Amino acid sequence: MPTLICVILSILIYFVMVEHIKGNNEKLEESVTCSKCNHEAHNSFEFCPECNEKLKEACHACQKEIHRNWRYCPYCGDVKGVEE
Ligand SMILES: [Zn+2]
Ligand SMILES: [Zn+2]
Repeated sequence: MPTLICVILSILIYFVMVEHIKGNNEKLEESVTCSKCNHEAHNSFEFCPECNEKLKEACHACQKEIHRNWRYCPYCGDVKGVEE
């Protein structure tokens, strides 16, 4: 019986590790690169901490705050910055 407990424990530890690695990857994806100085800034920042460049602007279609270096608005799928 102790072998079974060991196997169950190692499976649990494996899943905890996988979740931990996933969490770390999500953190990396939360950063954006400043278009002016290439500094990595956190997703929630309004301005670059290095050069004070504005990182966000309002989507012209849905008015949500989106990052300037994103090509498409993730909220409405509109191509950013195209006003035709
Ligand atoms: Zn910058
Ligand atoms: Zn939008």
